[in-house]
Amino acid sequence: MSEFLLHDEPVTQVYLDANATTPVLPCIADVVSHTMQICFGNPSSPHITGIQAKHLLEQTRQKARTVIGANSGDILFTSGATEGIQTAVVSTLINAKKNLIKNPVLLYGATEHKAVPNTLKHWNSVLEINAQVLAIPVDSNGILDLDFIAKHINNALMICTMAVNNETGVYQDLNAIERTIRSRNNDVSWMVDCVQALGKQALTLSDTTIDYAPFSGHKLYAPKGIGFLYIREGSAYTPFIAGGGQESGMRSGTENLPGIAGLNKLFSMLLDKSERTFKSADVLNAYRSQLQSAIVDTFGDITFNHDFTCSVPTTLNFAVNDLTSKEVIDLFDAAGIRVSGGSACSTGASTSFVLDAMGASKWQSENAIRLSFGPAATKEDIDHACTRIRALKVILQANCLIVSDSTTPQQEVCALGLTQFRHLGACSWLYVSDNKQAVIIDPIIELIPRFEKIANTQNLFIKGVLNTHMHQERSSAITLLSSVLADRILKADVDELGWPINEQHIALGQDVLEKITTPGHSQDSVSYILKNAKSNMSYCFCGDLILPAGLGNTSLIGGDAKKMAESILKLDAQLNDTSVICSGHDYQQCFAMNWAVQQAQTPLLNALITRGIDTDEFAVKKQSYDAVKQVNSTQLCGYVNALPEIETQQLSFNDAKKMLKASNTYLIDTREPYEHDANNVAQLFNTDDDKTLNIPLSRMANAIVEEQLSKSKHYILLCRSGNRSKVAATNLIQLGYKKVYNLSGGLALSH
Ligand code: PLP
Repeated sequence: MSEFLLHDEPVTQVYLDANATTPVLPCIADVVSHTMQICFGNPSSPHITGIQAKHLLEQTRQKARTVIGANSGDILFTSGATEGIQTAVVSTLINAKKNLIKNPVLLYGATEHKAVPNTLKHWNSVLEINAQVLAIPVDSNGILDLDFIAKHINNALMICTMAVNNETGVYQDLNAIERTIRSRNNDVSWMVDCVQALGKQALTLSDTTIDYAPFSGHKLYAPKGIGFLYIREGSAYTPFIAGGGQESGMRSGTENLPGIAGLNKLFSMLLDKSERTFKSADVLNAYRSQLQSAIVDTFGDITFNHDFTCSVPTTLNFAVNDLTSKEVIDLFDAAGIRVSGGSACSTGASTSFVLDAMGASKWQSENAIRLSFGPAATKEDIDHACTRIRALKVILQANCLIVSDSTTPQQEVCALGLTQFRHLGACSWLYVSDNKQAVIIDPIIELIPRFEKIANTQNLFIKGVLNTHMHQERSSAITLLSSVLADRILKADVDELGWPINEQHIALGQDVLEKITTPGHSQDSVSYILKNAKSNMSYCFCGDLILPAGLGNTSLIGGDAKKMAESILKLDAQLNDTSVICSGHDYQQCFAMNWAVQQAQTPLLNALITRGIDTDEFAVKKQSYDAVKQVNSTQLCGYVNALPEIETQQLSFNDAKKMLKASNTYLIDTREPYEHDANNVAQLFNTDDDKTLNIPLSRMANAIVEEQLSKSKHYILLCRSGNRSKVAATNLIQLGYKKVYNLSGGLALSH
């Protein structure tokens, strides 16, 4: 196996996120290490050690020129591309300030890495240039709009474009851009971000009028913290870092010689045509086709987000129809396959701005997965990656994430009991009785394909698709879901909320669901109480009347605080302390909440139930509370209180392994079953399978009601990073399970 794969994990990792960063090739690491230990001189020193270092520095600069086809101009070593971008922008703007034109603009491609627009905006403001910063639109293939450039280029101080996009691999026609720019404006400063082009495309910068081209080492097997910038001869320049005068005074600070030595080795490999490390475009294209087939065969319903004919072969960006990028990435990650969603540099954003700019649909953009490999990947790496991707198919089928095409599908995961489904803070609930009769409560439109797959693969008979009130934003969900599941749904006349007309209850095997009218959040609000025959405990689906650690809003149309008070008292008569509250929203990430904890966390609710205040006093307090909150809160459906700080006991991997030796200590994997299935947790912790439970957050409420946990046992909770399991641990401690510990750093730090 080559350096493309790492070997220090229990499950060997398959790294398919090369556009984010690459591992340093062993031969480059050797050179870096040698330079740190042996050839460690300071290029500014006059003695022999310094002279040797200086030689290495200049030799590398010369090789950089050859690699990017720049026989003139300057090459400066920087800390990476972001510094190169700063230098180019600052140099241009300081120069432009000397002679500011009227109505100046700064142009950048709409799909540019954030380092570019953010740098332009920052220095435009700091240097008080006050130019208009304009994004150049792209077409559906991600190609820049040349007419837009033509229209604005005469007023432009700077234009920034990129050679190859980091999310999609789409490359631009730099000749066409150059013709558009230079036929109108010879002086405008032009920067081309070449970070993702190096090693994947031939570059001859001296043949162009590109003024600045930043590069980064860590995107191509060199270490982080080293990069370089090409500056065309005669282009404006102001040192971005002043000091001891290194790099001919253009960039001070002792040079990062180990990093530069790493680039030196990289350049040698790129230039040596007999070298087999970097693959030809044909080979890389064949790799891409191979990965494409593996993805399509595994997930079936795929949409590729870019045209392969105008993108470099090392990037594949796609969305799996009906699966979120989080689900796909979590599954890949659990199976040791590292990919990224949209752009690794903008994690946290809900859509990809690159795909948005290309006019991709919202779901495509939200659910984009980027799979990228480096140009030094070997056939063995790609074969191995494809085998590992294909191995996911059984897990996807077993978890109802894809419909099986086999006549005897292996459906290990059973949806029996209660499962929570979430979409952006809103919750839907699926309850399945032992004889596979089901209800779906408060369905969310985006989750309809998921419910459809589960119902079909698990062979469920749906006795009701119910809303707790007419949700303004998703009123059509029950109609839509009822129509896609028409063959599996009980035929009955139902009211607006989906309840069968004239029925007092819905029987689900031995369990019974009842409806109670509970106005307050809206006039039509109802709650459903499900009595579990086995445990004699109940679930209360109360929509937006009661939210974990809060209450629904009463200031929307149809809201009535006094009625809310009456509804709460009505529910209280039906519930006991252990009843599990299942709301329409969960802004505080509570997952499992019972009536006793709900009261403890919601003082107003508690005061009403303990008769500290009557319904009129409740109404006055609630109205004034809502009026204040309405101004400040973005959570329209209700307002929640901050949860009490609960200290969870953190355990290291070794402590956890030791503790598991005791007979009453168990592991709980809080990840979703498809992640749990992808690796053998019991083996990793050296414990027995029967001491390892899989209770994802979405099944936490079910675990409580089904009495899967005991307050006398010790539980070590884990997930990938320690975050989800910490939430679960806090939840369980609140519910009275005191002997709960969290695996600090999760599986990521369990080596
Ligand atoms: N430009 C592009 C296209 C990139 O992909 C990246 C890194 O993600 C950068 C710029 C920033 O590079 P660096 O990490 O070297 O600062």
